[in-house]
Amino acid sequence: MDRRSLIKNAGIAGVLAAGVAPAVQAQGATIRWRLASSFPKSLDTIFGGAETFAKKVGEMSGGKFTISTHAAGELMPAFGVVDGVQNGTVECCHTAPYYFFGKDETFALGCAIPFGLNSRQMTAWMYEGNGMKLMREFYAKYNIVNFPAGNTGCQMGGWYRKEIKSVKDMKGLKMRIGGFGGKVLERMGSVPQNIPGGEIYQALEKGTIDAAEWVGPYDDQKLGFNKVAPFYYYPGWWEGGPQLDVFVNNKAYDGLSAENKAIVEAAAAYAHVEMQAKYDAKNPTALKQLVGSKTKVLPFPKDVLDLAFKESMALYAEISARNPAWKKVYDDYANFRRDQNLWFRFTEARFDNFMQSQKL
Ligand code: CA
Repeated sequence: MDRRSLIKNAGIAGVLAAGVAPAVQAQGATIRWRLASSFPKSLDTIFGGAETFAKKVGEMSGGKFTISTHAAGELMPAFGVVDGVQNGTVECCHTAPYYFFGKDETFALGCAIPFGLNSRQMTAWMYEGNGMKLMREFYAKYNIVNFPAGNTGCQMGGWYRKEIKSVKDMKGLKMRIGGFGGKVLERMGSVPQNIPGGEIYQALEKGTIDAAEWVGPYDDQKLGFNKVAPFYYYPGWWEGGPQLDVFVNNKAYDGLSAENKAIVEAAAAYAHVEMQAKYDAKNPTALKQLVGSKTKVLPFPKDVLDLAFKESMALYAEISARNPAWKKVYDDYANFRRDQNLWFRFTEARFDNFMQSQKL
C-alpha cells in the first residue's frame, strides 16, 4: 500500500499512530508555516522576497497553505535562521546563505563569492547547471531543502568615511561586509565585521566602523548610509550576483503533498525573478538622488581590485585543499564561471558597453 492510499484509508491520525514518518499531508488539510527572514521589514526589495514567496504560496493553494513572514529579530536573530530551520523551530527561512560561511565555507557558493558568478550566470548554474543538485546535497547535512528566491544583481562596493586612493587605504579599515568577502578583506589588511542590515547605520554613524556595504543605491539610501559616509564605491567585487534562498526544513518539506511541493517551488521561482526586477527598476532613480545630494560615487582603484582578485583565488585554492565539500562544489562552479565569461564577453558585455556609451 502506498502512503497516499494508506492516508486515505487510515486517516492521518492512524498513520501517525502507526509510526509512519514523515506523514504526508492529508488532502485539503490547512497548513500554517512560519518563515524567519534575515532582513529588516523596511526593505521592500530583500525582505519583500519572503513576502512575495508567502503571498504566492497562499494564492496558489487557495488559502489552504499559509506562511507568516517574520523580520530579523522577531522570532530569532538575523543570523540564527539556519539553526532555526535545522532544528525545526521554524519550517522555513529567507536568507543570504553566505552569512553562514563560519559553519562551512560551502554555504557561500550557494550565494556569492568574491569574483564569482553574476546574477544571470548564478541563475543559469542553479537551474540548468549542477548548482541546485550540488547545493541540495550539501544543505541536506543541515536538514535544509533550498530554493533560489531572489538576487540583488551586482552590488555597490559600500560607503566609506574617507576616500580610498590606493590599496594602502584598505589597511586597518574596519568595514561591515556581508558574508564571504570579509575573508578576502582580511587578507588585504582590513578588519571585516559581520553586522545585520538593521544595525549597520548606527555603527557607521558612531564611527565604530569606518565603512559599510549593504546592497546598492535603493536599499542603501533607505538605510541612510549617505548621511554618515560621503564616499560610495563600485563595484561590489565580492558580490557579482548574490542569491537569496528560501531554506525549508526537510521534514516539513517531506510532509507536503506533491501539489504543495510544486507550489513552494513555483512561488520561490516567482520571488526569484521579482527581486532582481525590483532592484534593476529601482536602483537608477536612487543613484541619481544620491549623486544629487552630494554622495561621491567612485570606482575602486585598480590596485584594490587586482589585489582582491589575487587574494580571492589564493583563498579558494587553500579552502579546496582542506574542505572536500567546498572543493566538490567549487570545481563545478569554477568551470561554469569560466564558460559563462567566455560567452558573455561576446554578446552581453559588448552590447552593454556600446549602449552605455551612447546618448540615450
Ligand atoms: Ca552586500
